[in-house]
Amino acid sequence: MATPLVVNIVELLRRPGTIKDINALIAVADFDFADERIADVAIPVTVHLESLANGVAVSGQARAQWRGMCRRCLRPIDTVLTVEFAEMYQLILEDPNAFAIEQNQVSLLPMVRENILLTVPLAPTCRDDCPGLCGQCGADLSEASCACTAVIPDPRWAVLDSLRENLTKDS
Ligand SMILES: [Zn+2]
Ligand SMILES: [Zn+2]
Repeated sequence: MATPLVVNIVELLRRPGTIKDINALIAVADFDFADERIADVAIPVTVHLESLANGVAVSGQARAQWRGMCRRCLRPIDTVLTVEFAEMYQLILEDPNAFAIEQNQVSLLPMVRENILLTVPLAPTCRDDCPGLCGQCGADLSEASCACTAVIPDPRWAVLDSLRENLTKDS
């Protein structure tokens, strides 16, 4: 089976300014992510290639179905991750971040894979203002406020309170 997203760019190399657009639906298995947070749902990839004097500029977008857990309320998150990328492919690697052009071809799959993995959030939240769980009773504060919202006793203050009481007694 041919590797997906390997693109022949002979036409682009012939003349700077030449463009090529690609739309593909890539099976998750082809990426071999080794990251179970990325769901097994085919990933649409759109790529715009443009030939420049010193290589081929590649930009585009991939959309991966992603599953995780809110770090505040532990609620499961099931969402679509939109990954934007803009990279360079060069025959002679001048740019340290550039990918290589080999045998008049660019292999886009490793580049798209890298960009998706870099975009997967490490500490996701279900929404920006998720209040999380009550530190005392564990209630989900985005569902309802719990009875222990008033004063959360802190053991450090308890020590100060007893000291203060003793001082008052002595004086
Ligand atoms: Zn949350
Ligand atoms: Zn509570």
